[in-house]
Amino acid sequence: MQTQEIKAAEAQTLCPTYGRYPLAIAKAQGTKLITPEGQTYIDLLAGIAVCNLGHSHPEIVEVITSQAHKLIHVSNLFYQEEQIHLARKLLSTSHLQRAFFCNSGAEANEGAIKLARRYMREVRNEDRFEIITLSGSFHGRTLATLTATGQDKIKTHFGPLPEGFITVPFGDPAALENAITAHTAAVMVEMIQGEGGVIPLPKAYVQTLVDLCAQHKILLIIDEIQTGMGRTGKFWAHQHLGLTPDIMTSAKGLGNGLPIGAILCTENIAKGFPPGSHGTTFGGNALICAVAAKVIDIMERDNLCQRVTAMGKWLHQRLLELHSKHPQRIAEIRVHGLMVGIELTSPGATIWQALLNQGFILNLTQDKVLRLLPPLIITQEELENFIQALDKVLSSVPA
Ligand SMILES: *Cc1c(COP(=O)(O)O)cnc(C)c1O
Repeated sequence: MQTQEIKAAEAQTLCPTYGRYPLAIAKAQGTKLITPEGQTYIDLLAGIAVCNLGHSHPEIVEVITSQAHKLIHVSNLFYQEEQIHLARKLLSTSHLQRAFFCNSGAEANEGAIKLARRYMREVRNEDRFEIITLSGSFHGRTLATLTATGQDKIKTHFGPLPEGFITVPFGDPAALENAITAHTAAVMVEMIQGEGGVIPLPKAYVQTLVDLCAQHKILLIIDEIQTGMGRTGKFWAHQHLGLTPDIMTSAKGLGNGLPIGAILCTENIAKGFPPGSHGTTFGGNALICAVAAKVIDIMERDNLCQRVTAMGKWLHQRLLELHSKHPQRIAEIRVHGLMVGIELTSPGATIWQALLNQGFILNLTQDKVLRLLPPLIITQEELENFIQALDKVLSSVPA
C-alpha cells in the first residue's frame, strides 16, 4: 500500500488515537527509515528510544529466528531458563537483586506502584500507599500511571482517577518535603524528564530527594524507561549520580523493538510480591527474554555506553556552536549522552516540518523542544548532516 492509501484506510479501521507524522514506514534498516514510495529518512528517534542498536540488527534478527524455532511462549505457569539468563544480565548492570518482567513501560511503572504499596503493607506492616511524582513527568497511559504523570493533558476526561497520588512542582525541595505524610509509600521520578522536554533533575534536588526518602523510610522509584539502557552514556541514568534506588523500571530500549518492560528491586522489597500477588500472561516469555539478553550482550561487547558518552560530548559541542550562531532561535541545548533536547525560543512545528522535508526524523515535544533519541549506533557523519540541515533551517525558516 502507498502512504495515502494507508492513511485513508486507517481512518476507516483504527481508533483515531494518534496524531501521526505524515509518513508511513514500510521498512527500516540500521539508522534509516524507508517509506512505501522508497524515500529514505535518517532516524534520530529510534522508535522513541527503543531501537538503540538500529533497525533489524542482524544479530537480533538471528536470535528472534533461532529462539522462535525453539520456544516462544508457554506462560508464567512454567519455569523458563531464558528468564534467568536475562535477569542475571540485567541485574549485573545494577545494584538491584530481583527482576519482574512485563510488556511495556506503563505496565512496569504500574507494577512498581503495586510493589511499593504491597511491600509497605505486607513486609513493613505500615499503611503507606501514597506515591509522590513530579510536575512535567511522564509515567505511562494506564489509569494509575497517567494519574502518576505530572501533565494534565494526559488525564483529560479519564476520571475518576485512582486515589493515593500526589504531584509536586518539579525541583522544589520544600514542596516535596511538605507532601510527605505518614501514608507516603514512595517517590517516583525520571532522572531526566523525557516527554517533558529532556529536563534533568537538578543535582542538589536529587540529594534532597535521596535524603528525604532515607529520613522518612520511603521508597525511591526511578523510572529509567527512557533514560536507561545506555541512552545517557551509563547503563542507567541514576548511576551518573551514584544513586541506589529501591525500585527501578525499564522498557523501551530493553527489547530493541520487541515489547518488554522490567521492574528491578532489592531482595527485601521483592518480598512485597509473594506468589499470586501480581502477574502477566505474556510478560517475560522466552522469545522476548532471549532478545533482551542479546541486546545487553551486544551493548556490552560493543562498549555502547562509551560510544554514547563520546558521541554525546562531540554532539553537545557542535550544538553549542549552533546555539551561539542562532541565539535568537535556540533557547537552550540539553545533551545527556544521546538524549538531546534543543529548546527553541518559539514553537517549533515549522522547523520540525522543514527538517522532516530534508529527511530527518525527530520529535517535537512540549511545543518548543526538538527531542533527539537516535539509535546508539548513529554515526558522527549522520549527526553532522543533521546539524548542517538544522543550521540552514534556522537561518531560512521564519520564526
Ligand atoms: C515511554 C515512557 C513510559 C511508558 O512506556 P510505554 O511502553 O509507552 O507504556 C513511561 N515512562 C517513561 C519515562 C517513558 O519515557
